[in-house]
This record gives sequence, C-alpha cells and structure tokens, in this order.
Amino acid sequence: MSNVPTITLNNGVTMPQLGFGVWQVPDAEAETAVRTALDAGYRSIDTAAIYGNEAGTGKALTGSGLPREELFVTTKLWNSEHGYDAALRAFDDSLRRLGLDHVDLYLIHWPAPAKDKYLDTWRALEKLYADGRARAIGVSNFQPAHLQRVLDEGTVVPALNQVELHPDFAQADVRAFHAAHGIATEAWSPLGQGKGLLDEPVLRELGEKHGRSPAQIALRWHLQLGNVVIPKSVTPSRIRENIDVFGFELDDADMAAVAGLDAGNRIGDNPDDVN
Ligand code: NAD
Repeated sequence: MSNVPTITLNNGVTMPQLGFGVWQVPDAEAETAVRTALDAGYRSIDTAAIYGNEAGTGKALTGSGLPREELFVTTKLWNSEHGYDAALRAFDDSLRRLGLDHVDLYLIHWPAPAKDKYLDTWRALEKLYADGRARAIGVSNFQPAHLQRVLDEGTVVPALNQVELHPDFAQADVRAFHAAHGIATEAWSPLGQGKGLLDEPVLRELGEKHGRSPAQIALRWHLQLGNVVIPKSVTPSRIRENIDVFGFELDDADMAAVAGLDAGNRIGDNPDDVN
C-alpha cells in the first residue's frame, strides 16, 4: 500500500499529495514508466492531452489491476480547445484515449488570456463536474487575476491550480491567493526540471544532514509547505527515490534554508504570454 498522505480538495475529494508527472514521456514509453510508478506506490498520475501520452498512460492504469477508486488521474485541456463546445469535445477525446469513463481531476492547461475564452471553457468544466465525469475540476498556470475572474463569474471554485513552483521559484503571492480562496497548490517542475537547482549547496548539505538526496530535500520542502507535487522521471531508481520522502522531516531552520533559494527563477513560460 502507498504511504503517500492525501489532501482534501475544496469539494471533499481526497488526492494524494505526491503523484507522478509524465510530460515529455513518449507515448510508447508511458505504459512502462507509469507501471513502474504504480509498482513503487504512486497512485496519482498527471498527464495532459498535449503530452501525447494519454493512451500509453491509460494502458498502464487500466492494465494495473488496481481498483479504479485507488487511482487518481489528472489530465488537461490544451490551448487550442478553449471555448464551451470545444472543451466538451476535448474532454471526450481525452477520456477515449485514456480508456476511462471519468477522470479525478480535469484542468485547463493555460488560461490563454489573449483568446479570452477561459470563462466559457470553465463553464464546460462545470458541466463535466455536474455530470460526474470529472470528480474535481481546476486550472493550471492561472495567475491570481485569471483566478479572480473565474471566482467572480463561475459557480464552482477551482479545486486546484497547478503552477510552476520549485525552491528557487516559490510563488509566495500565488500560494497566498490560493490559501485565501480554498484552492490547492500543485507544483509543476517541483525539482526545477533537475537542472541547476539540484546542484545547490544548500540542498546537498541538507541531503547529507538527513541522509537523503537533493531531490528528496526539495520534495520534502514542498510537502511541508502543503504543496501537491508531481515529480517526473523515467529512471526506475529515481521514480522510487522521489516517492521515498515520508520517513524524515525538515526542521524550521532547514525549511528556512531551502526558502532562501527563492530567486524568482522561472523556467517555463509566463502564463500571461502563452496563447
Ligand atoms: P521535474 O521538476 O519533475 O524534473 C524532472 C527531471 O528532473 C527529470 O526529467 C530528470 O532529469 C530529473 N530528475 C527527476 N528525479 C530526479 C532525482 N531523483 N534526482 C536527480 N534528478 C532527477 O520537471 P517536470 O517534468 O517539468 O515537471 C513534473 C511534472 O509537472 C511534469 O511531468 C508534468 O506532469 C507537470 N508539468 C505541468 C506543466 C503545466 O504547464 N501544467 C508544465 C510542466 C510540467
């Protein structure tokens, strides 16, 4: 059994606080990677229509023999599918590729503000939620201003916002907005994509102190902040390493040391500019 704690979303649905992300995993490799993750104890999987691997991901899920209610499946609506009717069609296509009859969480991948359609798209997600085809609905890469419009005009408060977040890009203002409105924070690229961040001396030194890797220290920091994390790897030993983060704790000084890395280092695109 998995020892990953759950968080309770604002509609009462529970979700594992740590899951497995599959961005950049080719469809042909997704089944193996997701099966390795399930064997390691992951139960939450984060994919997206644009990743092109919903089919391989779905094969691993449906072929796992695990009861559907033990799995937590997230997928996302791509930018070309904004608008009410297009969003409903995009959701049907994702479900068909996954081979499932519902998802646990459906997200708008980016607000695409220049299209100015995300409120129509959100109404489609509200319909999918009302029909029970998505157990929870949320957004990704929404800035507080985008979220505020959804809060003002929508009828369902997004359960979660999945945003770029890692120790050197800690997004304190976005997290505070989420906390004020009952929206869970999910961190994408929680390891900063494994680039310079994991070479930071602070993470290495804390790793030595706790007998852990820099990646495990970074993930532990997220978990203790309350973030949901979805680290990605296709390397079996790293897949297992990234879920083995529940047997130790960072103290206040450790947390402050990791927080000291925050330098506003955005890796991905600014959501205001993606359309
Ligand atoms: P990540 O921070 O999870 O880093 C992944 C990379 O870090 C791996 O490719 C590998 O090179 C390295 N790595 C992984 N485990 C390691 C370990 N234990 N030790 C050393 N190096 C390690 O980056 P990511 O894949 O960009 O983000 C995770 C997930 O977030 C994605 O797979 C995807 O599901 C999601 N995501 C969402 C969006 C979005 O716009 N919503 C954008 C990017 C990613």
